[in-house]
Amino acid sequence: MEEVTKPVVLIVDDVAANIQVLAEALKADYRIRVASSGEDALRVARRAPQPDLILLDVMMPGMDGYEVCRRLKRDEDTQNIPVIFVTARDDAEDEEFGLNLGAVDYVVKPYHLPIVRARVRNHVLLKQKNDLLERLALIDGLTGIPNRRHFDERFDAEWRRAVRDGQSLALVIADVDRFKSFNDHYGHGAGDACLRTVARAMQLSLTRPGDMLARYGGEEFVVLLPDTDLEGAGQVAERMRRQVIVLNQPHVQSDIGVVTISLGYAALGSVQESQQMTPSMLLDKADAGLYQAKSGGRNRACCVVEE
Ligand SMILES: [Mg+2]
Repeated sequence: MEEVTKPVVLIVDDVAANIQVLAEALKADYRIRVASSGEDALRVARRAPQPDLILLDVMMPGMDGYEVCRRLKRDEDTQNIPVIFVTARDDAEDEEFGLNLGAVDYVVKPYHLPIVRARVRNHVLLKQKNDLLERLALIDGLTGIPNRRHFDERFDAEWRRAVRDGQSLALVIADVDRFKSFNDHYGHGAGDACLRTVARAMQLSLTRPGDMLARYGGEEFVVLLPDTDLEGAGQVAERMRRQVIVLNQPHVQSDIGVVTISLGYAALGSVQESQQMTPSMLLDKADAGLYQAKSGGRNRACCVVEE
């Protein structure tokens, strides 16, 4: 049985015996995928679990390795997979050509297997470090949920999708009520713990995998709800408000003695509207709802309805 924790290596070669030799040398440390043509390689590279590295034969009938590499690097889904070219030709110009296409390394046939293993190991480690850094760059350190940068990226992508597919898209902005007083009274350590707990409670209110809760900054959170209308957004906001109250977290400055949040929400109403609006206008609209919730006495969810 395969260990799911092992990195995945895709071996591409039109000669089965070559695949066999490399697979034998690597199978103890990696999950091996194979492809015997360029077209096949592109298909396998896109399929989950995606390879952490590709050993790519240069000389193949039909689509050669160079073309495969070009296409991998052009595709957003595969461009971060390191490619090591495998070739029988020991030619500096070929090597330069391959590296300029974006390959990370080169190995030459006949294989010196300890070197192949070492190169594969080094590049897989680098890839894993890069993946980790990329993930960390999108996570809020305090709460462990996506950060603002991550939200901005997703919001942008979901906006374009909503406009293209004529679907709705909703936002909820939430803010912990009287959080400054909470910090002043209980200290910043307790304030941090409070934000973590609130984030967890809000996260529990989301049921669909496409929904995203992010920390927008300070004590402010934002929720992205694809394919959701205003009514649906209001339901999510209300669920979040209640989830935070049942935490029963004492807050002496709060109107009801426990930590509460105020929320504002907004949704793209129609296709026409989505063409007239920008993402920041929708954010402003949700923010206006939040302002209304705050000025209306906090611990409530509001939206601005245009007449
Ligand atoms: Mg070949």
